[in-house]
Amino acid sequence: MSVTGLPPYDDANVFARILRGEIPCKRVHEDAHALAFHDINPQAPVHVLVIPKGRYVSVADFSAHASEAEVAGFWRVVAKVAKDLGLEAGGYRVLTNMGADGGQEVPHFHVHIFGGRRIGRMVPKAD
Ligand code: AMP
Repeated sequence: MSVTGLPPYDDANVFARILRGEIPCKRVHEDAHALAFHDINPQAPVHVLVIPKGRYVSVADFSAHASEAEVAGFWRVVAKVAKDLGLEAGGYRVLTNMGADGGQEVPHFHVHIFGGRRIGRMVPKAD
């Protein structure tokens, strides 16, 4: 385990493969710092993922190890993509899952952008 509670970065993860162009994605935006693309299994009318170009496992890894330029560049893309998709007026949700309790499935840091309808409760009620 790394200090951030997840295994070290795995270059075989699906988002690494998308970044290398080995599998396709429905791209929304790409620049030096980040790639944004539509989620393959959308949970809202708009469901876009934003990932940094660098090899970061999680939000903890990214926050601890990314450069100031990477952090700033990444978050600017998140807000720009939401705006460009027309979500700013109605609002939207940005979410990241971290580790087992967070329900993170893909071990490359990413944020989800959800919009196009009222997104509902921030966290589902416990069973
Ligand atoms: P998380 O649980 O936060 O790790 O979310 C991973 C997300 O990646 C899920 O919403 C999946 O639907 C999405 N996903 C997995 N594979 C792909 C893919 N090839 N293209 C786009 N989205 C994907």
